[in-house]
Formats: sequence, C-alpha cells, structure tokens
Amino acid sequence: MLKTMQPMIDPFGRRITYLRVSVTDRCDFRCVYCMAEAMTFLPRKELLTLEEIDRLTSAFIAKGVRKVRLTGGEPLVRKNLMWLIKSLSRHLGAGLDELTLTTNGSQLARYAECLADCGIARINVSLDTLDPAKFKTITRWGDFAQVMAGIDAADRAGIKIKINTVALRGVNEDEIEALLRFAHARGFDLTLIETMPMGETGADRTEQYLPLSLVRARLQDRFTLEESPYRSGGPARYVQVGETGGRLGFITPLTHNFCEACNRVRVTCTGTLYMCLGQEDAADLRAPLRASESDHLLNAAIDAAIAAKPKGHDFVIERGGKPALSRTMSTTGG
Ligand code: SAM
Ligand code: SF4
Repeated sequence: MLKTMQPMIDPFGRRITYLRVSVTDRCDFRCVYCMAEAMTFLPRKELLTLEEIDRLTSAFIAKGVRKVRLTGGEPLVRKNLMWLIKSLSRHLGAGLDELTLTTNGSQLARYAECLADCGIARINVSLDTLDPAKFKTITRWGDFAQVMAGIDAADRAGIKIKINTVALRGVNEDEIEALLRFAHARGFDLTLIETMPMGETGADRTEQYLPLSLVRARLQDRFTLEESPYRSGGPARYVQVGETGGRLGFITPLTHNFCEACNRVRVTCTGTLYMCLGQEDAADLRAPLRASESDHLLNAAIDAAIAAKPKGHDFVIERGGKPALSRTMSTTGG
C-alpha cells in the first residue's frame, strides 16, 4: 500500500482525487470540433517518457488520487502504452480505485484483451454518429467499421463501455435518439457533451453549439427521464431512461456550471498541470520531475499548483467570438 501524504485540498475545500493524464497530443482522427485538419504536433522530445508519466502519476496517487484516466490526443496511438497501463495497474487496490481511458475506439480491437487483463474495468468511447458517412465528415480520418469492431472487442473482453457523444447542431442532433437506443440496447451508458470553445478548429462554434437543455427537452417528449443519484466521479448528471432501462448523462459546461464539486486536475503529455479545464492556470511539473530523482521537488510543485486551483470556468460561446482558450481539447484530453 502506498503511503498517502497530505491529501490535496484546494483553497475552496475541494479534495483532488481524480487525475486525467494526456499521454500524447497526437491522434489518428481530426474531429472537426477538436482539431484543425492540418495540426502541428509537438516534437517527440518535448514529451514525457512513459517512465516519467508513470512516476508523475504515481506521485499523484501517493497524494490521494484514486482515479486516473488516460486520454490524449488518442491514448492508444502512443507507442508502448500497454507498458504504462500494466505498470500503473500495480496501484489498483493499493490506493487507486480506478484506472481507465477515453478513446476514439480506433485501436480497441487490438488492445481490448490486454486492457481487460490489466484491470481496466470501464472505458469511455467517443462516438458522435451511427452513420458511416457522417462519421467520416465529423472525424475526417476515422473509419466507422473499425471503431465498431473496437467497441465489440471491448465488450467481449468484459470492459464496461460508456459512449460519449458531443451534441452538434445540424450534424447529429437528429440522431441522439438513435444513439441512445443503440447504447442502451448494448448495455452501455451514454453521455452527451456540449461543445466547448477550445482551440482554433477552423469552424464557427456558434454553428456547432447545441445546448443540452434543448436536447433534453426534446428527449423528454419521447422518453421518461428520471433524475438519478448515480455519479461516475465526473461532471455528468444522470437520468434513468424509463423505456430503455439505461442511463443517460449530460455534461453541460455551458448551460450549467459544474465547477463547485470539481475534484480533478489534468496533466498534459509534456508534464504541464492544468488546474482547470476552462482556465489558463498551469504549472510545469516536467522541470521538477527531471531535476531530481527523488520526488520532493515534484511534490512541492504539485502542492503549490493545487493551492492555486481556480474556482471555476466561465465558458461563453459568442457569435464570431474567439475560442475561450487557445489550447485545443486534445492538449488536455477533455
Ligand atoms: N481521442 C480520445 C477521444 O476522442 O475519446 C480522447 C481525447 S478527446 C479530446 C476526449 C473527449 O473530448 C472526446 O469525447 C471528444 O469528443 C471531446 N471533445 C473534443 N473537443 C471538444 C470540444 N471542443 N468540446 C467538447 N468536447 C470535446
Ligand atoms: Fe482525436 Fe479525440 Fe480530438 Fe477526435 S476528439 S480529434 S479522436 S483527440
């Protein structure tokens, strides 16, 4: 059992128990709301090595993090990621309750068995449409059949799946019901996400933005949605759908601010710690990590960063407006 040091409690009394780790900024897709098609990625030498990510993540676990989510970019395109997952899985049941990942599903067919063997019990798979042609339009480079095969493989391996769908005006708003029926028929949860104004993607956000309050009102005409006390440890609020018996989550950073109960911080693949998804406040952890083989500098840098965690974000989407943040979602991994 790892010895837990001082727990991380921010100035607003929130205990930090959830770490999201972006293991790469690269991706094999180019989703229209996430990246521009001509993305420039970081030079590889800027990236933390897998051993460094392991050490950094383990330091957070020693400081009370109980849930770790690997993300990206696309986490499963990082070379040797299975080494990292195997290594981090040593903390499961020894301080860490959950090790999970968010993926676009493209590489799942290859890795599902190994993930399950490493104790990955649940994953989030992003899927915005069930129409292969539309899938290509949204992801630009993705292959729908490959993702479906990945989802099937994860399901067969016994991994619980949550589908994440970004609600996009005029793109998939007519498919939300189909996605809900698909997910629940397979025993998957479905979570809907509002687009957040992050990074220049070459698209106008006001054209993509679809308030989930509207989606929910439309669903309520056809389904019985009952408030559920269920929490997945994230910002989603859930309802139970009477007709399907499944769970539906809403992540509403724009129509409902969810910061009061924020329990998380995010670290990028270069070792930058973001204390809030919607703010620029950040701390460099790579320098203290590399400065000493012992963790004392790293721990001091983490403590200083947590003491500066902002109260929350205040996203607004304005017509013709600039993104609220210049970094894309693929920097911090959502
Ligand atoms: N590549 C993986 C994937 O797509 O699942 C992990 C990283 S991706 C950045 C994590 C999540 O962020 C995905 O569910 C994606 O749909 C979502 N996302 C990306 N850009 C977004 C944006 N501007 N607003 C809201 N969600 C976004
Ligand atoms: Fe890649 Fe995920 Fe961003 Fe799509 S949302 S471009 S899959 S990082």
